[in-house]
Amino acid sequence: MLHLVDSQLLEIRNRAANLDPGKKLQAELAAINTQYEAKSAHAKALHAEQTDLELRQKSIDDKLKKIDKELYGGKVVNPREVEALQKEIATLMKNRGDMDGRILELWDEMPPAKKEADALHAHVETKKKELDEHQKKVLVARAQMEKDFKERAEKRPGLAKEVPPPMLARYEAIRHKHAPGMAGVSKKGACEACGTNQPVKLIHASLEGKVVTCEACHRILYATEGLI
Ligand SMILES: [Zn+2]
Repeated sequence: MLHLVDSQLLEIRNRAANLDPGKKLQAELAAINTQYEAKSAHAKALHAEQTDLELRQKSIDDKLKKIDKELYGGKVVNPREVEALQKEIATLMKNRGDMDGRILELWDEMPPAKKEADALHAHVETKKKELDEHQKKVLVARAQMEKDFKERAEKRPGLAKEVPPPMLARYEAIRHKHAPGMAGVSKKGACEACGTNQPVKLIHASLEGKVVTCEACHRILYATEGLI
């Protein structure tokens, strides 16, 4: 029966238009990724701080060794110079001690920061896989729908021939009025069938998976991702 094929064609197109490309998963992935990037940056900053402090301590150690040599190598004998060097040693030792304190803190802070970043990284990878699997399923479903659609569409001319011409004309008129099929939305936001511009609200509703129709020709509209 012709009308049965037509209603099946409409139903398949409607389902194809409402296939979810994984919007919710994509939003979740983006949110987790933002968290991961922040935590990862924090962990890296702690690590960089530790490396920097260690380098600075090494440079202090080198200075201390040099002063030690000057003091006890018999080169410096003037009491004033000796006093100045001893003062420098005290300042350097204090700086070094302050750095020790911060390094100890960093040793406490680094492992949990890294653990948090690693956990978020694992979460990101899991979400990516989930999205990937979802998208694969959508592609399979879409391919199946296209196949079903093609098979039914091929039956249509044969079935239409079986209907007496006056009846077919009436049927087509009614069909276009009541089940007027589908139309895409152009990049400019117009119905691709009749060219009427569609309200942005309506296009958003279509992107959200709601069934919306062109205000002028009443075709069911399907907006494609990335349009607005
Ligand atoms: Zn239209």
